Amino acid sequence: MRAHSATRHAAVIVAAPRSCADAAMDALDLGANDVLFDSYGAEEISFRIAAQIQHKKTNDRLRATLQAGLDAAVTDSLTGLYNRRYALTHLSHLFDKSLRSGTELSLIMVDLDHFKQINDQFGHAAGDAVLCAVAKTLKGAIRASDLLARLGGEEFVVILPDTSADKAQGLAQRLCGLVRNLRIAAAPRQITASIGLSAIGPDRLRTGANPHFEHLLHEADQALYAAKSKGRDQVSYFTPQAA
Ligand code: GH3
Ligand code: MG
Ligand code: MG
Repeated sequence: MRAHSATRHAAVIVAAPRSCADAAMDALDLGANDVLFDSYGAEEISFRIAAQIQHKKTNDRLRATLQAGLDAAVTDSLTGLYNRRYALTHLSHLFDKSLRSGTELSLIMVDLDHFKQINDQFGHAAGDAVLCAVAKTLKGAIRASDLLARLGGEEFVVILPDTSADKAQGLAQRLCGLVRNLRIAAAPRQITASIGLSAIGPDRLRTGANPHFEHLLHEADQALYAAKSKGRDQVSYFTPQAA
């Protein structure tokens, strides 16, 4: 019962004859919550069951509170996406894993264009609606193995393990198009995004010239900046010349 998720936290009361005291002790050792020996009456059973149910309810509540706290620590409350803290921790793990295992890793950074104007024109609530719609659209376009997070403000990141820069570029173009085609009632104007891309490709895996995961983030940010200065609503891939 303890091995299965549905019954893991069930309260278990073992009823045993007094001659089986050793087995009853073993049951407690294996996780039973209480033991009844053969002298019990109906009232005692009912009392002990009620006590176990009360314990279980309290523990369920504590577990739910703990889980909610853990979820809140890694979640962005507006969009429901992972937050910056979670994304950076995840990226740091995937970065190390990529170098260790020799598999590629790509990073896509998305920043909405002239987002301040959307707030100014239609109000902050409309801006929030745009952020939620963009989050949902991006989420719908990535694979289950990719991680999407809101880095802050109107900036999102997609971390793509085991993905070449070429493949990531294809996805980035698609994301750019999906945002461009979004129609949001609360903010009736075209929404666009600029996208920066960086990657650990075969060359880097060969030379091992990757000092830190933040480097990859910085490169995507530089590529994003290049996309902005080239006119926005486009994807730019990090190259040293673009920096
Ligand atoms: P650019 O094309 O250069 O990226 O311009 P921009 O206006 O998108 O960028 P800027 O950094 O100037 O403005 C970002 C704005 O995003 C300013 C800030 O008020 C707004 N913002 C940040 N977080 C939120 C949020 O949670 N909700 C809303 N509605 N607005 C937000
Ligand atoms: Mg912006
Ligand atoms: Mg920004």
